[in-house]
Amino acid sequence: MSKQRIPWDQYFMAQAVLLSLRSTCTRLEVGATLVKDRRIIAGGYNGSVSGDVHCIDEDCYLVNGHCIRTIHAEMNALLQCAKLGVSTDGGEIYVTHFPCLPCTKAILQAGIKKIHYLNDYHNDPYAIDLIKQVGASAEKVVLNPVYFEKLSFGSNYDPTH
Ligand SMILES: [Zn+2]
Ligand SMILES: [Zn+2]
Repeated sequence: MSKQRIPWDQYFMAQAVLLSLRSTCTRLEVGATLVKDRRIIAGGYNGSVSGDVHCIDEDCYLVNGHCIRTIHAEMNALLQCAKLGVSTDGGEIYVTHFPCLPCTKAILQAGIKKIHYLNDYHNDPYAIDLIKQVGASAEKVVLNPVYFEKLSFGSNYDPTH
């Protein structure tokens, strides 16, 4: 197994996990990687509108228990495509958490055909129905540490720091 290259599912999901580390809203650190034809076309994480303050500095802007400052990772990835003029039609998305209903609707309407997710997160029953209804699919990915054993932190890495 160690001679195997990292499978695509593991590779793209690891990218989503890496992106989640950049989240500025600490209520939930989420990352999303948009893929088309086995190429990463965009990435996103939970954060505020560019130019606004960050929850991590100013605390969350809570209304009815939700942070209204945050743009979800999935939306940020889709909006990056909108901003740069990249087609998402027929693509796939890798997310660290099962998308909320508004994100699921946006993902499907953007033509994404498959949602890969790492963690269940209040999986919305209507979102699940909708995914089936439009002929898309959702699949849970389990990351296997065996593929990350060779991950290098560089020759200057000092584990005591
Ligand atoms: Zn927040
Ligand atoms: Zn969402």
